[in-house]
Amino acid sequence: MIYESYNPDTTFEIGQKLAANVRAGDIICLVGDLGVGKTIFTQGFAAGLGIDTHITSPTFTIVQVYEADIPLYHFDMYRIEDAQELESVGYQDYFWGKGVCLVEWANKVKAAIPDTATWITIEKDMTMGLDYRKILIDIGTSNQIVLE
Ligand code: ADP
Ligand code: MG
Repeated sequence: MIYESYNPDTTFEIGQKLAANVRAGDIICLVGDLGVGKTIFTQGFAAGLGIDTHITSPTFTIVQVYEADIPLYHFDMYRIEDAQELESVGYQDYFWGKGVCLVEWANKVKAAIPDTATWITIEKDMTMGLDYRKILIDIGTSNQIVLE
C-alpha cells in the first residue's frame, strides 16, 4: 500500500489509524532518512494506542516503554552497530512480549527482525514539494492490520 502525505498531520493520522488494528506481538519497522517524519508517525501511532505521553526519538536509550492496554516498545536502532549489540538490550523480551514494537531504523538490524514483520518506508520527493511524503506500507504476514 502506498499513502501520500502533504503535511505532518496526515502522517500522524496514518500512524494513528495503523494502531487501531495492531495486536500484542506485532513488530512494525519504520525506515527513512533523518527528518522524514518517523517520530511524527510514531506519535500518531502512540496516540492510536491511547498513549498520551509525548513521544520523542529514543536516540540514547535504544528502547523506550510506554504503558497502555497494548504497551508500546519504541526502538531506535540509529546508533546500533550490529545485531549483537542489540542482544545486550534483551530485545527478544520485547519482540515476543505483550506489547507492540515499533522499530525506527530497523534496516540497521535486519538480521534480528522476524520475516513476519510489517515494514513502513517514508520517503521525500522534492519534486512534490518540501512537505510531501510517500509512505509505503508492507503488512507482515503475522499482522492483521487493516487500513482504509
Ligand atoms: P524523523 O523522526 O524521521 O527524523 P521527525 O518526525 O522528527 O523525523 O521530523 C519530521 C519533520 O518534517 C518535522 O519537522 C515535520 O514538521 C516535517 N514535515 C513536513 N512535512 C511532513 C509530512 N508530510 N510528514 C511528516 N513530517 C513532515
Ligand atoms: Mg526521529
